Amino acid sequence: PTPIIVSQGFFMSQNLLILGGTSEATQLSKLIALAKIKATLSFAGRVERTKPQPIPKRVGGFGGAEGLRDYLINNNITHVIDATHPFAEQISWNTFKACSELRIPFAALTRPPWLEEPGDNWKYVDSVKQAADALTNYAPTTVFLAIGRIQVSEFEIAQQHKYILRLVDPYEGILPLKITHTIISRGPFEVDDDIKLMVDNKVNIIICKNSGGAGAVSKLLAGRRLKLPVIMVNRPKLPKRKTFHAAAEIMDWLEH
Ligand code: NAP
Repeated sequence: PTPIIVSQGFFMSQNLLILGGTSEATQLSKLIALAKIKATLSFAGRVERTKPQPIPKRVGGFGGAEGLRDYLINNNITHVIDATHPFAEQISWNTFKACSELRIPFAALTRPPWLEEPGDNWKYVDSVKQAADALTNYAPTTVFLAIGRIQVSEFEIAQQHKYILRLVDPYEGILPLKITHTIISRGPFEVDDDIKLMVDNKVNIIICKNSGGAGAVSKLLAGRRLKLPVIMVNRPKLPKRKTFHAAAEIMDWLEH
């Protein structure tokens, strides 16, 4: 038999849960669909429009680690792949807990962090709140704030600045920041477009989470070209687990 036939026979007994909300999860889902492996892609339901996906999806929280544990049992899940965003701390710990308890094999699919290069001027902080604290001492300036919409209110304490916000969905309710320019876009973004955006808006500093990946790196490449300082929010502490950076590596892991 060819290796592909052997692989398909092996995969047939599998029933995967992929925790998603990232482009990595979507890439993996495409490979899973091609290999005809039974799988479900799970979304928290944070963004309003999820893209069409090549495998069945479910939306919404499980109800903590216990709820996830019940879901894994009730749906006869054989493997879990945590392909959530590197800042999605809670779901990663819940996955670790539920899978460890049930002894279900699990692995993470994640992007390597962005790295500072010679000539960059990055200041590192451990939370979005610390980034906001750092800004309170700055004279009024224009800030490119790329941290998502959930923690925007942390910057209420630094209202002297103008904020350029780039969000996937519009902010719900009234923005807690006085001077803002909001751009609604899911990306991926181009470096030249981001340079123009930053020059046109007279951006002087970039604040972002160290998400990693290609889809959102353009702001940093633009900042590098314009020699802008960056306040970089470090990744949270995640559980120690088998970690891969490419969807193809997960396929190998599933096979072996
Ligand atoms: P989080 O703080 O780790 O999770 C909060 C709660 O949301 C979890 O306890 C869980 O609820 C639910 N949840 C999270 N991811 C889920 C998933 N894939 N499927 C089902 N339920 C999920 O996560 P977050 O930072 O709010 O991120 C939420 C989602 O947005 C994730 O899918 C993540 O990949 C994506 N995302 C996050 C960021 C970011 O910067 N944090 C950026 C881009 C995309 P229960 O406890 O009820 O199960």
